[in-house]
Amino acid sequence: MKYVIIGNSTAAVGCVEGIRSVDQEGPITVISDEPYPAYSRPLISYLLQGSTTEEKMRTRPADFYEKNGVTLLSGKKAVRIDDARKTVGLESGESLPYDRLLIAAGSRPFIPPMAGLDRVEKKFTFMKLDDAKALEAALTPESRVLIVGAGLIGLKCAEGIRGRAGSITVVDLADRILPSILDETGSKMMQEQIESNGIGFLLGDSVAEFGKDRAHLKSGKTVEFDLLVVAVGVRPNTELASQAGCEVGRGIAVDERSATSVPDIYAAGDCCECRDITTGQRRVLAILPNAYLQGEAAGVNMAGGEKSFANAVPMNAIGFFGLHVLTAGSYDGEEIVETKPGVYKKLVVKDNLLKGFILIGEIARAGIYTSLIREQTPLDTVDFDLLKQKPQLMAFTARRRAEKLGGAK
Ligand SMILES: Cc1cc2nc3c(=O)[nH]c(=O)nc-3n(C[C@H](O)[C@H](O)[C@H](O)COP(=O)(O)OP(=O)(O)OC[C@H]3O[C@@H](n4cnc5c(N)ncnc54)[C@H](O)[C@@H]3O)c2cc1C
Repeated sequence: MKYVIIGNSTAAVGCVEGIRSVDQEGPITVISDEPYPAYSRPLISYLLQGSTTEEKMRTRPADFYEKNGVTLLSGKKAVRIDDARKTVGLESGESLPYDRLLIAAGSRPFIPPMAGLDRVEKKFTFMKLDDAKALEAALTPESRVLIVGAGLIGLKCAEGIRGRAGSITVVDLADRILPSILDETGSKMMQEQIESNGIGFLLGDSVAEFGKDRAHLKSGKTVEFDLLVVAVGVRPNTELASQAGCEVGRGIAVDERSATSVPDIYAAGDCCECRDITTGQRRVLAILPNAYLQGEAAGVNMAGGEKSFANAVPMNAIGFFGLHVLTAGSYDGEEIVETKPGVYKKLVVKDNLLKGFILIGEIARAGIYTSLIREQTPLDTVDFDLLKQKPQLMAFTARRRAEKLGGAK
């Protein structure tokens, strides 16, 4: 059995490990348009901060490819899939035959049409190691940096360059930061934390037009800058799948086995959409755990085994300047809220299930909340009053405790 994987990041690594758990022999070829071994994408901001190195960013040891019988084609781009002939065509002209194919092509920055953007010489996006390196090469201690987008990627970029730039300003059309994962209280708390570290915000405003070194905002304000980072969102890389005839919505449609609608073509990670169990809706859940687990399920199934990844949950574990945030699930339901200085906690309950939570400041043992959501545990089978105070195993029955502890009493 010949396996080909397009992409070489978290979903691809999961797939290799999934394949090898079933089939130790079949040759695996991984095609990557980046020139690096698999690395942890979230760490690019820590590289700029100087708190990690390229070496430490690798998600697997240097001998991972060799040990797993993987041929890594770095710096090569897949440009076509011929599902009838079962080949993948590369930009370089080569054609690779496959028996089973995984598309793990991730996503790319979305750059909306913005008047005058072509006049800006020093502009960057912030998704890849090369983006971080390019930004670092252009940055000086005097640089005035304008970041468009107050979502996770824009703010991680701001944190990464804090202390290395003259000034950092973040502008966003939304009136609060991290709107896709935090509520108003959580956003405000994180904004104060980030502002207290010298980063400025212009919220509820957007760029009307760029000049060479300035942004004219809709509000009439003008922001002068030396470097511009555009971080307004991402788009899943679905084109290869569409062209191969796979069903595509917002992302590539896959079932619980990570199979697409075309036989022998699988897909995993940020390029896919999957069912969010907290809402029942299909959406792109662009986070590391999903990418790995979907990729692993794909690998096992590609190699003839059976594995499902059926309980995808949106989750985020982030932090800014030492203040940690954990979020999971959805926020439609009855809210149980607790606030104290430096701490915010919101649990959301609906239909006897924990649907979601936001934890800021105190995040210890939050995995217990996540597993209640993921396993859709009825709350009347646990001591939820105890769990509301803090996540703890004592709230479960003795039998469930034993299961959670892997059999230990
Ligand atoms: C700054 C930043 C911070 C983040 N922080 C977090 C976090 O705190 N927690 C979290 O869970 N997630 C975080 N994420 C998201 C996380 O990185 C992604 O969910 C994860 O990397 C997805 O893995 P993937 O394998 O699906 O795709 P990707 O990591 O996007 O990798 C896809 C790879 O495929 C390559 N590729 C695409 N098309 C082709 C082609 N045609 N031919 C060859 N190669 C191709 C791409 O170049 C890329 O190397 C963050 C992302 C960024 C950018």
